[in-house]
Amino acid sequence: MNLPAETSPSDAHLASLRSAERAAGATAGTTKTNLLDLDRDALVAFMGSLGEKPFRARQILKWLHQRRVLDVDAMTDVSAKTRARLAEITTTDLPTVRLDQRSRDGTAKWLFELHDGNRIETVYIPESGRGTLCVSSQVGCALDCSFCSTGRQGFNRNLSVAEIIGQVWLATRLLGEADAAAGVAPGDRSAGASSRITNVVMMGMGEPLANYRALIPALRLMLDDLGYGLSKRRVTVSTSGMVPWMDRLTNDIDVSLAVSLHAPTDDLRDELVPINRKYPIRELMAACQRYVDGDRKKHVMFEYVMLDGVNDSPAEARALAKLLRDFPAKVNLIPFNPFPQSGYRRSSRGRLERFAGVLESAGILTLKRTTRGDDIDAACGQLAGAIEDRSRRAEKFAEPRFGTRPVIAIQPDTRERPVPAPAIRGVR
Ligand code: SAH
Ligand code: SF4
Repeated sequence: MNLPAETSPSDAHLASLRSAERAAGATAGTTKTNLLDLDRDALVAFMGSLGEKPFRARQILKWLHQRRVLDVDAMTDVSAKTRARLAEITTTDLPTVRLDQRSRDGTAKWLFELHDGNRIETVYIPESGRGTLCVSSQVGCALDCSFCSTGRQGFNRNLSVAEIIGQVWLATRLLGEADAAAGVAPGDRSAGASSRITNVVMMGMGEPLANYRALIPALRLMLDDLGYGLSKRRVTVSTSGMVPWMDRLTNDIDVSLAVSLHAPTDDLRDELVPINRKYPIRELMAACQRYVDGDRKKHVMFEYVMLDGVNDSPAEARALAKLLRDFPAKVNLIPFNPFPQSGYRRSSRGRLERFAGVLESAGILTLKRTTRGDDIDAACGQLAGAIEDRSRRAEKFAEPRFGTRPVIAIQPDTRERPVPAPAIRGVR
């Protein structure tokens, strides 16, 4: 089991147990528990509340996520009595597939509809030797980064655990079906043969750390060897810099971290990534330091979207190199993906190369991401789903871009957390 080794249960662990207890309690009333909302510990607690032993939870986890069987009645190694009880009090609801698009370059993009009619997008990017699934965490995003199409659409709600892990479930199923149709045998791992998910990046729609409560159980299911069995280095949480929740992540689960930096100075970052006004670069870098502390194998991937004439000059490259000096950093230079009325242009290849050159000569490992899935709008920042914006952001976009916008008072959804927050190192 890939859960973090802990002698006492972590905050998120306790929260998932309590939520299982609540879920079990709820079944006595009207609401059924969605089994896909439960990570291993939560499922053990849930089954325990029905008088069942932990091994039952492990069997069910395998049925759900490895065999992708949703009908509890088909879980033949579970007793008939327990199956009948589960059929009565639980569901295994998933989003429905509204659109399945495949790009010329093999990239796939799916539009999934949620039970309330909201829609989210998930993208699969095949590369030699690996397949990366880009997963959404929210319907829209409240953080309002100026160059991001999702942010521009405003915010509607957080996804549940089942809606997050459901994207992995559905993508695995849909890719498997496509392989079968192409005559690729299940389990065939020969070069380029199968569309296998080897990596997950939380880089779809939304800010994952603003949906912390659902994020952690979903990540645990991705890592769990009875779930998707992904390596901790191949599951990446990308954040725009929600510093206190970065610390909680560091404490709660061991996964890779990407930080959407996009500017080397606070002045510029305040404009591009408004959460910077609340958690400026100095605090962000301190949280990154706490993430890598004590583990020499760890690094942080800094994402940097290349905006022509905005953040892509050699002076900015030098400032970035200085900021990241002595830090175990990789930098990923992302070509800006345009969308209507973004107000930005993609940096030329020449400017990107010059920028990369400055970083490389300062000894910083620099990746130059190529854009994938352009023809189906599947590239980063082009994901917008179909959002009924509760923040009315879209209306506000008549306002000038670089006016003085108020500091965002966004707080992640922790309302239903039943246990007090842990002491977080370095957070005031
Ligand atoms: N909210 C998280 C994860 C989702 S965004 C975050 O901000 O990190 C995933 C990545 O896409 C981020 O690095 C984001 O800055 C980048 N991105 C957003 N809009 C983009 C655009 N139009 N072109 C290129 N990258 C973009
Ligand atoms: Fe939200 Fe990330 Fe887009 Fe910023 S870049 S608005 S944090 S999804």
